[in-house]
Amino acid sequence: MIFSCTYQKKVVLLHSQKFYIINMAQTQEETFKKIVAHCKEYGFVFPSSEIYDGLGAVYDYGQNGVELKNNIKRYWWDSMTLLHENIVGIDAAIFMHPTTWKASGHVDAFNDPLIDNRDSKKRYRADVLIEDQIAKYDEKIAKEVEKARKRFGESFDEEMFKSTNERVKEHIAKREALHERFAKAMNDNNLEELKQIILDEEIVCPISGTRNWTDVRQFNLMFSTEMGSTADGAMKIYLRPETAQGIFVNFLNVQKTGRMKIPFGIAQIGKAFRNEIVARQFIFRMREFEQMEMQFFVRPGEELKWFEHWKQFRLKWHKALGLGDEKYRFHDHDKLAHYANAATDIEFLMPFGFKEVEGIHSRTNFDLSSHAKYSGKKIEYFDPELNQSYTPYVIETSIGVDRMFLSVMCSAYEEQALEGGDTRVVLHLPAVLAPVKACIMPLVKKDGLPEKAREIMNELKFDFKVAYDEKDSIGKRYRRQDAVGTPFCITVDHDTEKDGCVTVRYRDTMTQDRVKIEDLHEIIRKATDPKELYRKIVGDSFEDTNE
Ligand code: ATP
Repeated sequence: MIFSCTYQKKVVLLHSQKFYIINMAQTQEETFKKIVAHCKEYGFVFPSSEIYDGLGAVYDYGQNGVELKNNIKRYWWDSMTLLHENIVGIDAAIFMHPTTWKASGHVDAFNDPLIDNRDSKKRYRADVLIEDQIAKYDEKIAKEVEKARKRFGESFDEEMFKSTNERVKEHIAKREALHERFAKAMNDNNLEELKQIILDEEIVCPISGTRNWTDVRQFNLMFSTEMGSTADGAMKIYLRPETAQGIFVNFLNVQKTGRMKIPFGIAQIGKAFRNEIVARQFIFRMREFEQMEMQFFVRPGEELKWFEHWKQFRLKWHKALGLGDEKYRFHDHDKLAHYANAATDIEFLMPFGFKEVEGIHSRTNFDLSSHAKYSGKKIEYFDPELNQSYTPYVIETSIGVDRMFLSVMCSAYEEQALEGGDTRVVLHLPAVLAPVKACIMPLVKKDGLPEKAREIMNELKFDFKVAYDEKDSIGKRYRRQDAVGTPFCITVDHDTEKDGCVTVRYRDTMTQDRVKIEDLHEIIRKATDPKELYRKIVGDSFEDTNE
């Protein structure tokens, strides 16, 4: 699959010539395995109920993971509810009246096409097998282009090359034909055609290597359970597969009690559950996960303008973290969900390729209209400026907390060779998201240094998550903090009492500064305050959502 190509990171010699990135020629699969192992070893993510050998695609967040996750949620929540006076939050229950899911279309249409390989007995999503095949053509094209770029140097014209080179033209034509056929089959819900594509493309099972496929079938992804004590009176209910419906059924409650005027948004963070057919890639595809969703209610006819607005705003939110602008791209949907009239994904470059982290959807007035129909209640908004009532249209931004977590981890992880033959693993986490902002260390465990270190820590801990460490050599303590991504290590030494200063050591550059104790708070605040990021997002050109 996309895993096979080699991960060629350049050897980078950084300023002080102290370290090199060492994962030369490491395959993406190897890198990813190391990230997963690192997440477990350093208390970020554990397999759920591990002592019983775990549960497929369910994970627990450890002591560092929960801090990172909470920081991601805080960054998202505040960017919605603080930066926009017309966006408010709610926290709806996971259990909802079962008719909700009839009205939303999930009972009838929340399906994935599945296919089994008879030899390996492994189950796959038919659409994902085909998407991976399209990605293979993309890789072939990209490889040819790169080869040619090296050959022709400065004078290389990529568009010209793509339109004239016979081999590349052939790959492009095959890719386009496959893409078109796939999009049509998905739109028509044509399961036989999906199977035929898999056969025609000679797609093999990655485990058995054979093409012994079953027919493609639809599989509903919702988990159900029963509510009520007696078998007769029990009601079949679902674990919500998305948080959005909790917002739609509360539209009137929030609009009326908050006296909200269109356009306005409702934001929510919460758990969602999907019985995914194929659980792979660690926390990328889980059966229990968390979503951060915002539904923005607008006038009919204005939805595409707002769709564009939210696309740009959300991309800025991602880029402000500084994980690398080139790691993001939009991917417009070929197959629109039953409720949408425009949809795009924000994809992030994971070690296993560009993958969806967030969806932005123009959901029309489908959900509110459908809930009105099924509930028999009038769900409309009276627009005083137009002097008319209507069912608002909706733009949704929907991002998975866990996928965001994974993208942050993947871009932060780095192995470095240090001068003198030593190595370190460092997480270059954005300081705003780092689980621990600073670690306070007495140089030695005596001479009153631990007491001074604790005194400093006690001052800082009201505002920042800080740690204290006095065990082992300073070098080892630095390594431990690098591995969890702590931006600052603060060392108290024998001069501290005399000069009122400590040594601050920076995670990424490993350089050190002697600073006054009273300046510590501001140094940490400046680096870790989300406000700095919000300024980047809002900028000068911020187009307000209060139009
Ligand atoms: P995919 O195509 O990968 O199955 P989707 O298009 O079904 O995802 P949406 O329904 O748009 O996803 O959900 C919004 C967001 O919720 C996704 O962008 C993703 O970040 C997150 N998400 C969806 N399913 C999962 C899952 N099984 N595990 C973790 N996060 C998920």
